[in-house]
Amino acid sequence: MTKACPSCNQINPPDAAFCLNCSASLAPAPHIGAQPNQQWQQPPVGGPLAGNPAVGGSGAGQKATIALVLAIAALVCCGPFAGIPAAIVGWMELDAIKNGRSPASGKWMAQVGLWGGIASSVIHVVLYMIWVLFSAMASSNQYGY
Ligand SMILES: [Zn+2]
Repeated sequence: MTKACPSCNQINPPDAAFCLNCSASLAPAPHIGAQPNQQWQQPPVGGPLAGNPAVGGSGAGQKATIALVLAIAALVCCGPFAGIPAAIVGWMELDAIKNGRSPASGKWMAQVGLWGGIASSVIHVVLYMIWVLFSAMASSNQYGY
């Protein structure tokens, strides 16, 4: 099996990469027909896998997003019930980012989850204690009459 040069028809050895006569490239020519088919088939296979990191929001880790959502939930409604998990998930995610197991783009979300979760828990506990205190004062006033 010898290779005929596409430019000058020089007969070259089968393992020649370039034409002996005119130095035209010989190697890619036989593969041009085969490679485009493989390249066309690959994107649909790799597509869903490659698309997953983008779903988490600019490559941020999923846990970082969860920590952020939990921290917001803690602030808005649930207090320690969401704040403590937010702090735990945020802490784990910060640890994972530190060890290179999670993308650093989620760091701020993990930090918001950690400190937001703690702050929300404390705020809700303090508010609850104030509410209990006021309730006690109100009821003691009622009994005072
Ligand atoms: Zn040639």
